[in-house]
Amino acid sequence: MKGGALRITVFGVVQGVGFRPFIYRLARHYGYKGWVKNAGRGVEIHIEKGIKTEFQDFLRAIVEEKPPLALVERLTFKPAAFKGFRDFAVKKSKQGKRFVFIAPDISTCPNCHHDIMNPGDRRFRYPFTNCTDCGPRYTIVKALPYDRSNTTMSGFPMCPECSAEYHDPLDRRYHAQPIACPRCGPSVILRKARTGKEIPGGIERAAELIKKGKILAVKGLGGFHLACDPLNPDAVRRLRKIKERETKPLALMALDVKTVEKYACLKPAERKWLLSERRPIVLLKKKRDIPGIAPNLDEIGFMLPYTPLHYLLLENLKLIVATSSNKKDSPIMKEEDEGICGLCDYVLGHNRPIAMRADDSVVKAVGASPLFVRRARGYVPYPQKVPAELRSSQDVLALGGELKDTVSIYKDGYVVTSQFLGDLDEYPNHLYFKETIGHLMTLFDVKPACVVSDLHPDFHTTRYAQRLGLPHLQVQHHHAHVLAAMLEHGTAPETKVLGVSWDGYGYGPDGEAWGGEFLLADYLGFERLAHFEPVPLPGGDLAAKQPWRMALSYLHEAGFASVPRAGILKNVEMKKIQGVLEMIKNRIRSPLSSSCGRLFDAVSALTGTSPLENDFEAEAAMRLEAAASSRIQASYPFVITKENRLFRISFTKTIKNILADLDYGLPPRLISSKFHNTLARVIVVIAQMARKESGIDTVVLCGGVFCNKRLLSRASDELERKRFKVLRPVVYSPNDESLSVGQIAHALARLKEGKGLSL
Ligand code: ZN
Ligand code: ZN
Ligand code: FE
Repeated sequence: MKGGALRITVFGVVQGVGFRPFIYRLARHYGYKGWVKNAGRGVEIHIEKGIKTEFQDFLRAIVEEKPPLALVERLTFKPAAFKGFRDFAVKKSKQGKRFVFIAPDISTCPNCHHDIMNPGDRRFRYPFTNCTDCGPRYTIVKALPYDRSNTTMSGFPMCPECSAEYHDPLDRRYHAQPIACPRCGPSVILRKARTGKEIPGGIERAAELIKKGKILAVKGLGGFHLACDPLNPDAVRRLRKIKERETKPLALMALDVKTVEKYACLKPAERKWLLSERRPIVLLKKKRDIPGIAPNLDEIGFMLPYTPLHYLLLENLKLIVATSSNKKDSPIMKEEDEGICGLCDYVLGHNRPIAMRADDSVVKAVGASPLFVRRARGYVPYPQKVPAELRSSQDVLALGGELKDTVSIYKDGYVVTSQFLGDLDEYPNHLYFKETIGHLMTLFDVKPACVVSDLHPDFHTTRYAQRLGLPHLQVQHHHAHVLAAMLEHGTAPETKVLGVSWDGYGYGPDGEAWGGEFLLADYLGFERLAHFEPVPLPGGDLAAKQPWRMALSYLHEAGFASVPRAGILKNVEMKKIQGVLEMIKNRIRSPLSSSCGRLFDAVSALTGTSPLENDFEAEAAMRLEAAASSRIQASYPFVITKENRLFRISFTKTIKNILADLDYGLPPRLISSKFHNTLARVIVVIAQMARKESGIDTVVLCGGVFCNKRLLSRASDELERKRFKVLRPVVYSPNDESLSVGQIAHALARLKEGKGLSL
């Protein structure tokens, strides 16, 4: 009797993630015959049974029980001719040049953890243990197809035992490209940094040295960490000196959740992310402060171990500082010869090369959903689906902005965005930028039809784009922020949104410095609906470094005849104050800007929460947010004026009222709360105007300012109460990391319009 047969195709991240062996086991479980093979961007399956049968359970199991690294985007099936196969086989695949997703690096799975902790296992205490469900991926691939020979494991021939596991479809390590064991795989090397001399004792010795107060460079997946004992103030101080970072928060790695809970409060979503196989740094509310780790902030960043090496290192230590090994303004170091010895006392390295750098990802919770502060290791690469109406058969390359840059590629209906690359005004990061473009273009076989950059004529990315000899598109900074969120949420091209695009700086089409923007936008273009009243930035870039300069600028705008010695201004020499005031009055080196970030700086300085000088970007704003701790509902007044069709929002009244509150003795935590409420209020008022005038009911909250949890939550809540649909970046960071994504969206819309590619 003839039975039934089914042909199934699964699209998504299904290659190199143990998907075929999973199907093999599943088919055997159901007693099906047939085959499975890699095909194009997916996996093709033929199953059949000699008797009439329903395949529903099998289909459901594919989606529900898939391997942890797999990502099923789409599954199609149709009846097929019954062939009478005798068994179920994993077919060899032809190697073609096709778009195949590479999985991100995934933390050690429970099975591998069990192996390294089990004295009877041949991988007992082996720091490079991995399997099909876990281990390095993106950071070790050099080219496609994803085979061992194309990874940095190519120099480690498999021993017979590993080879047997590798070739057995029923083994957990079947086709695990980085498979290794103590006999054939990489090994750790501990060195004294100053002399380079190898010293015995490996990971156990390294842990002892950390305990003794030494600073160690520890090679992980995407680069070296600098590690020390967080409870040793001298070690922390020394580490800060080496990193040239006075107050920038340092991330901690804890052995387990129990250790984390000693120092931080943990909500269910945060616990889930800490334990997730992507192992980001999660920013948590402080419970017990560790001095010097995250000074002046109310949050502290924790992650859990993500390689066997980390587990072994932390076994007795329980808690270490694990901050990326870079000097200020340079990328994370990946190999010893990049100067790692200059940053530490000892180096715990290993001989598996890193193909691609990647920092740790940083995420925090807004309600139960994630807000990315930095997106890199564990999350990259991720295939972001593009709305059907925007898809093109041509490839696109987008280069992002300048600070906190990423690059993105578009191919076959998906956008793939790089890891966070840092600030490209620094030369070493510019090399990292080029390294990453090369990596992505090779991995995904991209032949861009055009290149997209920011509108800024002097950004390195813009100049780089001009040199590529491709059609070159430019997208306005704040428009790109809005588009990134639209693309991520699959917004249809006919939809117009109100983009609340707030950050420190972006180049406007009028050549001015934009920053507190309300844009009526779709994929093709935008209209500037409203913006913050521009104020002078005394000293240009210096104004972003020294928050008190912005306080003076706003005081001058508000018409104060004499300078009140409020907040941080008390600590500034009168001579300096006079000098800067002269600059403001006479518009000397004081360009105008509608920046939202600089307004935060001004308020932070006036309330005395800001530092005299920022050690890192947005420090003053972050401290102001951390200071707010009240459920107070009051807000400050602000003034909206209208000229032609453009609204301008003036905060001089806000500033006057803040000073009155300061005079009255109101503490910063109340003033900061009221200030946050004020900005949320501005958003709602403008949104209601936009709805009245243009019938818009979708609001996008984007730009670096929306890394501010308090503002984001409050604005979202209030907008939703007024029945607006609120979109905010969830997959990407709201900061400039998302620019390249938005740039792709605009380019695709242009390609669709057939408008040609020159602007
Ligand atoms: Zn594993
Ligand atoms: Zn082996
Ligand atoms: Fe921005």
